[in-house]
Amino acid sequence: MTHDPDSAILLDPALALPSGPAPRRTSVGVRIGSGPGAVQVGGGSPVIVQSMTNTDTADIDQTVQQVAALAKAGSELVRITVDRDPAAAAVPHIREKLDKMGCFVPLVGDFHYIGHRLLTEYPACAEALAKYRINPGNVGFREKRDRQFSTIVEIAAKYDKAVRIGANWGSLDQELLTRLMDENAKAASPLAVGAVTREAMVQSALLSAARAEELGLKRDRIILSAKVSAVQDLITVYRMLAARSDYALHLGLTEAGMGSKGIVASSAALGILLQEGIGDTIRVSLTPQPGGDRTLEVTVAQEILQTMGFRTFVPLVAACPGCGRTTSTVFQELARDIQTYIREEMPVWRTRYPGVETLNVAVMGCIVNGPGESKHADIGISLPGTGETPTAPVFIDGEKKMTLRGEGIAAEFKTIVEDYIEHRFGTKSAAE
Ligand code: SF4
Repeated sequence: MTHDPDSAILLDPALALPSGPAPRRTSVGVRIGSGPGAVQVGGGSPVIVQSMTNTDTADIDQTVQQVAALAKAGSELVRITVDRDPAAAAVPHIREKLDKMGCFVPLVGDFHYIGHRLLTEYPACAEALAKYRINPGNVGFREKRDRQFSTIVEIAAKYDKAVRIGANWGSLDQELLTRLMDENAKAASPLAVGAVTREAMVQSALLSAARAEELGLKRDRIILSAKVSAVQDLITVYRMLAARSDYALHLGLTEAGMGSKGIVASSAALGILLQEGIGDTIRVSLTPQPGGDRTLEVTVAQEILQTMGFRTFVPLVAACPGCGRTTSTVFQELARDIQTYIREEMPVWRTRYPGVETLNVAVMGCIVNGPGESKHADIGISLPGTGETPTAPVFIDGEKKMTLRGEGIAAEFKTIVEDYIEHRFGTKSAAE
């Protein structure tokens, strides 16, 4: 009897590893906003992408422009800083201008220290915002804290707004931390300082949420977060929060950093938690390059969710990394151009070509792996590598349909992608 070791391995169920993410953690759904831009966070909804502006909120036009850009990039909630009187006064005007532009993305107000006063003195601001974000470590001290926290929560309950109670490592509730540190010092086997700090983060969020409920805020109006800047601490803190409550959770690594460091740290932390079923909305806190594009944080958040298979936002462009066979820049330029073109067109395509986000495009650098990979995509092209005949076979739905030649390969391929999208995803109404 012959024995094929490969088949034996494939057919042995004991060796089959589970695939895919853990089931989503059950959380209470929180509706944010009303009307066309409203979203639900948690309660089984897809993981929501959010972002934050870095403009002075008192500068109405700049803030409107940035909120609109973030929303156009795909941010489903946008947070703005409300730090002083002119900012609070600007909020209703920002909302109005966005509505007039047809941009209905819900706005979240970020409050620290004087949020209770601003929300009281600027009722139009309190109404225009869809959600308030407060940090229990930044709402005053002792009896003042309870009064200020209560005011914000009561206003949220009055206007039926959602509240994110966001503990933050850098501004942790010092009274709670000191109490837990004292108790730990007296314990028979004291925990490490880091463990006590993580416990304080979790308790700060949970105790504040319980207090908010006592004050009349419904459970389906509360979202929790506990942001830390170290990846391992963040993962531990969120696992603790997820295990101890069913509040919807906002995930984000605080002070993730700039460039690749920020992207990698956020992807590692959020990826692990999302894989474990934890997280209902995410924000990737990237420090932009001076003059850089703020919408990058939205792109990264979407790509984390899409590459992990949780949501689809834009067609994926697969490209080989290139190697010694790709001595010209034609291949990199085509991969970049196609990716940029698709991202830029998506706001229009989303409504014009329903389902276009599931499209897969492959741009490969030579004939070694190129044709094979191209066949797996909806549309794929294999550019000529060094020393290869200067021709580029194009594969559509797994079959070689044509071969491009000469200087205009990039432009021709773009037209082929456009035609394919029109043919496959175009609807009759869009054509009219
Ligand atoms: S497909 Fe060709 S060019 Fe791209 S990495 Fe592989 S061998 Fe190199």
